[in-house]
Amino acid sequence: MAHTAKPTRENRTITVDFHDEATYFALLSDGKAFVEFVLAFIFSLGFQLTHKSTCNGGSGLTRHSHYARVRLGGLSIWRMQCTSCKAVFTVLPHFILRYRKMRPDAARDALLATHGGLSIELCATICHISPMALYRLICALGQYSLVNVLVKSHLPLPAYILADEQHSKCLTERVYLPTIVSGRVIWHLGYSDAKSAGAFTESYGQFQRAALAHEPSYQVRGALTDGFDSTVSSLRTVFPKARLGFCLRHALNKLPDKLVGVSASVRQGLRSQFHALLHRCRQRTSLRMVALGQRLRHFAKRIDATMGEAHGERVRHWFGAKKAGWYAVLADPKMPAMSTVLDQAHNAIDRKLFAMKGLHHPGGSQAAFLTGLAHLHNLIPYQCRALNAGKCGVEVEGGRVPTSDWILNLQLLTSGGYRYTPEPPHH
Ligand SMILES: [Zn+2]
Repeated sequence: MAHTAKPTRENRTITVDFHDEATYFALLSDGKAFVEFVLAFIFSLGFQLTHKSTCNGGSGLTRHSHYARVRLGGLSIWRMQCTSCKAVFTVLPHFILRYRKMRPDAARDALLATHGGLSIELCATICHISPMALYRLICALGQYSLVNVLVKSHLPLPAYILADEQHSKCLTERVYLPTIVSGRVIWHLGYSDAKSAGAFTESYGQFQRAALAHEPSYQVRGALTDGFDSTVSSLRTVFPKARLGFCLRHALNKLPDKLVGVSASVRQGLRSQFHALLHRCRQRTSLRMVALGQRLRHFAKRIDATMGEAHGERVRHWFGAKKAGWYAVLADPKMPAMSTVLDQAHNAIDRKLFAMKGLHHPGGSQAAFLTGLAHLHNLIPYQCRALNAGKCGVEVEGGRVPTSDWILNLQLLTSGGYRYTPEPPHH
């Protein structure tokens, strides 16, 4: 079956929750009531329709709308047109997935199963769908940028970010997934077959462009990385004004590597001392960077004295290369200090890619597929025993999802016909 996934014209489909199918079919016979229902629903979400740029939008659709009925697979679908800009909006009832034969309930089960780490084969067996249908569904969700969906969920663009690349495999090729996380939410999950600064710059630049399209004055204030050269120089290019910090936990884990030939227990002891040192500097309310500089010097001297100057020199050299990044973490109290949540996101995505590996192939649409997985990561609520049980990542970070039903939220937030409405200023 030929499958053309990507429409070239602007997608102005909107999903509308009609509560149940009976309500939808009843409204179909009454155009005026139908339009009123749709407008009331859009109003209740706090969204606006994406009119053409020349149109002031407004609520002109209420009275002046033209509507037409078409049939899709035996089901009547309404289209509504704005009389001033002629933008056409296709109204999809909530029980239909755009371009899919799959019902949202089947999609819900299959997406949950793959999100939970179940293999594609098991998902297919349990949910009575084809593995390819599931793969294509995730790719279709991934047509919408993460920034778009997150902004529609009322999350502000992140001032502080964690950035790093997940190493993965596409068949036998090594590939890299440049990722931007803020708290529990993935803002960017890219795909690159090179680990050069140029490749990462291109990927992180995609996030930057999407963010600037939403807010032209957007600037990242601080970014935390593990200090890998290509990551650092790509972030410096994309976010020239951001403070670039290095993850402190990463530093802790690297210290023992600098003490080759020293017994494991001694290295472990030094790691604890280093941990205490970093912790005490972070606890301080003033002169944090001065304190860190002093303590690093003392720490290296102690290694000179106890383990010999060769070790002291190696550690001092390492401090020299990394301390600017640690200073950056301490210089701004709002800077994230550790990339734990980013590692967690990477582990979760990695498990999914492993479960999906049969479909992770060179000819696939990796970018769309990964973005689709990231939407699931952000919008599927945590399971009942988790810390934030019942909430999704977006909610944990203070965002707002339109309804209590995550699959409906996914449909609404990836509806190309909706656009974000800024909150009116409070007085
Ligand atoms: Zn218009």
